[in-house]
Amino acid sequence: MGARFAVIVFGVTAFLANGQDASVGLNSLTPVEFSQLSQSDPNPLGENALAIRPDQWKHAETEHFIYHFVHDFVATPVSTEAEFHYRVVVKELQRDPLTTDIKSHIYIFERPEEWQQFQQFGHLEQWTGGIHSAGSLFIQRNPAYRFADNSLGHEIVHLVLHRFYTDAIPCWLDEGLAQFISKDSQASYQRARGHLSKPHSESIAPGDLIPIRTLTMLTYPPSDRVHTFYNESERLVRFLETTDKPSFLKLLDALARHQPFETALGQFYPANFATVAGLDEKFRDYASKDFGSSLQQVSN
Ligand SMILES: [Zn+2]
Repeated sequence: MGARFAVIVFGVTAFLANGQDASVGLNSLTPVEFSQLSQSDPNPLGENALAIRPDQWKHAETEHFIYHFVHDFVATPVSTEAEFHYRVVVKELQRDPLTTDIKSHIYIFERPEEWQQFQQFGHLEQWTGGIHSAGSLFIQRNPAYRFADNSLGHEIVHLVLHRFYTDAIPCWLDEGLAQFISKDSQASYQRARGHLSKPHSESIAPGDLIPIRTLTMLTYPPSDRVHTFYNESERLVRFLETTDKPSFLKLLDALARHQPFETALGQFYPANFATVAGLDEKFRDYASKDFGSSLQQVSN
């Protein structure tokens, strides 16, 4: 009995002496020295971020991401979620993950005033409140608040897309894919943790639809129609993808090589939508399906 008691006391002492928080589990990130990170971030915004209260930053990495953060217990759930979404995106895009071993950098701010200070360097994505730039992601996480929506997943999709298409893809496709994949991925992530969750795709009021020709030419979400732009882009990706997935992946590759939308559409969807006008007509019903009803769930 005496020996057993001694072991327990020793265990508790070691735990506290280690300075670990009780909420840190077995899979918590292990901080490493900045100089020990396996890759650097060529993005100048990364340097700007780490220059804000430089002594506060800790660093760690997982298989596909490198994290810069203040508290382990804030960064650890971000890392679990990031790797989860990474696997979903790679599977969804049917890409060989071995084509690149570049890790994306994720900077996690905690204090609102420092996050505000940082915002002068980059452009805030209105949809998620994060900043992604040249394959790096900058976000704010309030330690007291646990994120349950798909905004981190949305940004992870952008990061993974950037790994495979470094030369950028059209805005509607980037945002549409980020919404489409992250909604499904977030629902799976929640279900894997015992929560009831179904992906929720927003339908669009028929009168609000942006014509596809206009939508596909936009280089930036229009400030007066942000909501419609994201939802419609998501529905268009969902529509094209569920109509014919192999064609969708070919379309994605062609658009990433800056081919005109109409040419690529006619090439890969000749039987379904030979022209943008034809697509527009068929997409209308799908985009507004169940609008105004309580049955807006679209799941595949
Ligand atoms: Zn986005």
